[in-house]
Amino acid sequence: MEEFTTVSEAAEEGVPAQAEAPVPAVRFENVKYTYDDDEEGTVFAVNGVTLTIRAGEFVAVLGRNGSGKSTLAKLINALLRPTEGKVTVFGLDTADAKKAFEIRKSAGMVFQNPDNQTVASVVEDDVAFGPENIGVPREEIGERITAALEAVGMTEFRHATPSRLSGGQKQRIAIAGVLAIQPKIMILDESTAMLDPKGRREVMDVVKKLNKEQGMTVILITHFMEEALEAERAVVMHRGEVVMDGTPEEIFARADELETYNLTLPRAAYICRRLQEAGMPVGNAFNAEELAEAICASLQKG
Ligand code: ADP
Ligand code: MG
Repeated sequence: MEEFTTVSEAAEEGVPAQAEAPVPAVRFENVKYTYDDDEEGTVFAVNGVTLTIRAGEFVAVLGRNGSGKSTLAKLINALLRPTEGKVTVFGLDTADAKKAFEIRKSAGMVFQNPDNQTVASVVEDDVAFGPENIGVPREEIGERITAALEAVGMTEFRHATPSRLSGGQKQRIAIAGVLAIQPKIMILDESTAMLDPKGRREVMDVVKKLNKEQGMTVILITHFMEEALEAERAVVMHRGEVVMDGTPEEIFARADELETYNLTLPRAAYICRRLQEAGMPVGNAFNAEELAEAICASLQKG
């Protein structure tokens, strides 16, 4: 069969335009993952997940402790291989041992504890660690460090000591370390959990910018509902299954269902709900500004 590089080229040749589906960043097909636990026996950490994440998407993954979020993350970057089913990352099968290296390069992971993620005593050496490990030529590493530090707003800390930085700054350095490997996907596994509100804001701003400006696919595992609101899509996990999948607004409008998965609402949405129950018609608000406006509007109506 003849190949055409664009749809219009095909059309010119009189071939019916056939929009080719782009290769998804991540694809789970009926994936199961079990741990063999001495005490618990076989634990189905991921239990029949089918999920597609498009390139450039910003997805929040929610779910109570033990719902399978970290296992899902490790399945994506080939740290774990499915017990059943298939995981592909940009079309590469994670079960193929020969592809593991490439998959790990394309799906970078940032973890929870900022103190466990620095390896060197100077920031730039820390950021260099990843690219050095994958054999990036020495001349290129300097440029990668510059670009990565710039992207996370930490340029001026290039020669600083990681241990002296704030939690938010340390996590931004961890993100820079991943960026220096030039991944296409950034997975953050509760990377804001140990940070103060300012540090959380810093990390979220960096992540949003990477998604918007570099088209980075972002998978943000979080237990902060407010953070999920900043994603374009939210996926809820419960007992190893994906039980909800939609825009954050759609997810948070289903408060009763969320409650059955032991999840709460973003603060503003929660207050909104209580006000509605008390007879004040405030509609749906998801942040403080929207809530204030809704209350004002409702009061003015009298
Ligand atoms: P989450 O990140 O949502 O808290 P995890 O993916 O860490 O969930 O865990 C999912 C399930 O798998 C839990 O029941 C957990 O106890 C179990 N689990 C996770 N890691 C291991 C392990 N190394 N050995 C045995 N069981 C595990
Ligand atoms: Mg976890």
